[in-house]
Amino acid sequence: MVTFDIIRIIITIILTFCLTLDYPLAFNTLIKDTLGTEATEGLSAGSPWLDTDLTENLTVNSPEDPREDFHLYAGRELALKKKYVEGYSVWNNYADASNTIDERAMKLLEDDSLEGKEAELVQDMYDILLDWEDRDEVGFKDLKKLTDPVLEAKSLAALTDYLMTEDALIFLVNFISLSVDSAYTDSTHYAVFVDPEALLLEDSAEYKKRTEYGDMTASYNEKMFLYYAKRLGMDKKTAKKMLDEAYSLEEKLADHLPSNEVMLRDDYVERANNPMTFGELEGLTGNFPLADLIEVQHLKYDGVYLVSEPDYLKYLNEIYIEDNLEAIRSIVYIHALLDLGKYTDREASDFELDTNNECYETSYWYTEEEKAYDDLSDMLSEPLQRVYVQKYGSAEDKKKMEELCEGVIDTYREMLSDNSWASRDSIDYAIKKLDAIGIYALYPESWTDYSGLSLDGCTLYEAMRDISIFKAGIDEEKPGREVDRERWAAEQNTLECNASYSPQNNCIYINLGMMQEPFYSRDMDTEELYASIAGFWVGHEISHSFDSNGTRYDAEGNLKNWWKEEDRKIFDSKVDKLDAYLDTIVPFEGYHVTGKSIDTEMLADITGLQCALKMAEKEKNFDYDAFFRKYASLNLEISYYSQELATLQQDSHPLGYLRTNVSVQQFDEFYETYDVKEGDNMYLAPENRVSVW
Ligand SMILES: [Zn+2]
Repeated sequence: MVTFDIIRIIITIILTFCLTLDYPLAFNTLIKDTLGTEATEGLSAGSPWLDTDLTENLTVNSPEDPREDFHLYAGRELALKKKYVEGYSVWNNYADASNTIDERAMKLLEDDSLEGKEAELVQDMYDILLDWEDRDEVGFKDLKKLTDPVLEAKSLAALTDYLMTEDALIFLVNFISLSVDSAYTDSTHYAVFVDPEALLLEDSAEYKKRTEYGDMTASYNEKMFLYYAKRLGMDKKTAKKMLDEAYSLEEKLADHLPSNEVMLRDDYVERANNPMTFGELEGLTGNFPLADLIEVQHLKYDGVYLVSEPDYLKYLNEIYIEDNLEAIRSIVYIHALLDLGKYTDREASDFELDTNNECYETSYWYTEEEKAYDDLSDMLSEPLQRVYVQKYGSAEDKKKMEELCEGVIDTYREMLSDNSWASRDSIDYAIKKLDAIGIYALYPESWTDYSGLSLDGCTLYEAMRDISIFKAGIDEEKPGREVDRERWAAEQNTLECNASYSPQNNCIYINLGMMQEPFYSRDMDTEELYASIAGFWVGHEISHSFDSNGTRYDAEGNLKNWWKEEDRKIFDSKVDKLDAYLDTIVPFEGYHVTGKSIDTEMLADITGLQCALKMAEKEKNFDYDAFFRKYASLNLEISYYSQELATLQQDSHPLGYLRTNVSVQQFDEFYETYDVKEGDNMYLAPENRVSVW
């Protein structure tokens, strides 16, 4: 499992833009890919544009012409002004808007006049996180109590027994990760998902061919583990030996795990959809106590288990043996320290932030309150959202947003009806699916009942444990039951400045965090509104229902093909054409884009923009220059190298400057507005442009 702060930095990038619910939403299921993308032969850095979101590439001499680099043209002035934004690992409008929400929420956490169970819970937790006197006094004692039995286990059986105790199940890794979500082929019911535990280097490909980003992660892991181990009284030599043992066993595990590049492919879900019964899982149980781990977590039931990597489970039986006891102990121990070490005292928390900045070459910082708020958002997201919504949720805005979404859906219906390449049957079904899309705007109507949880008088460790036990209790009840789609705050944090689409629920979520400048205001110009939330953003989310992943799910959200084979072929050829183009893009020295990893998001951008432009057709005197500039400004970023590298290698979203440039160059309106001609850098020949819907 990656530590929260690395995740936070990565999440800062990822959450900046839309998520689809099948990926990083849960912090522990980040899907990343490492491509080791060396530049394609014959292409140099900056083909066709340099990544000017990377501050090194932005200079006062950077060209200023919409026909050369539209993203730079539209954002240059602001980017130069903000070139070194202190405190951020990535600056963009989404991060700015998130700050506004965070500041308001932090005020609520100190507001004594608030009443109700949720307010009590989040305020108690906030106080616990900020009680440095208590945290300094506890120091590493709780962590030592939790992890000493791992070091002391004299046999694999003793270690396994310990891993099945309540606290160990909550806090320690045990090679598999169990979760509860709607089933792939029966989206209305909950099933249990059985996945591999994350590796120290996050991506199995890093164990074969280490990338620059992998080096950064390895260096972070080593520095942090050596520090925590020292604080727990371990000498450096022993700690280093543990690291070597852990990596060496993980290298073997990595051979049986898909790389993140494979996991980012559109068809990965088909590989991961392996339904099994509990009996079948018992059959896979050998040395590795798979069935027991499911039982002790109270997730044994009569229904379906979805096993993403059956071969990995089989392989666990080969390595879970007495000979590997030391390496297994090392993996469990190192993960525990890296995950939990910073929830100790002030010194450890400060050291973690400094090390993160050192290893990833950033200058990220936060106040103690911001850090506590961040941790709280992770641990008690739903009660925090509820407290915020009680104060700032507006029924009027919610209704307005729902109406705006309906308007975009109406335009999308026209786009589908105009389609000239797909068969009538496929189009009819697409329209049926479009009409079935659920719109969840701003806040849910139904919330999880937290009245059974109390944190009064807890230490930080006790509070974290009690929260986990409470959440696990909720999950235990779910397998086999009907999914409550109305209670969506448990999966989707509406305070984030973001929007998303869930293929399993066939619905879009437009977060409360987006309902502010520069994304939305009640008196926004039509051009700005269309370039931001409604049009473009809502159009982008709806497009996920019809992208190469979304089209694998039917109108009810079941993994089920509804395409005619010929239609699928044409669709795939359009995506292949886009991929081939994306593969030629070289943002900076040594790395090119990999189309297959980002094509769903790139297509959602292109189609979202297409939808907004179709809405624009109906407006009199529409100002296309204002529209395109607004669109570009929302993609503007100011970013460190490690962050751009992480996005390029690990994210399903394109880099910010490509979200502008590749999208706009597909449309006639752009060429007409800026008089872009053959020979200009922004020019793409008509036969090379991609339009899917
Ligand atoms: Zn998206």
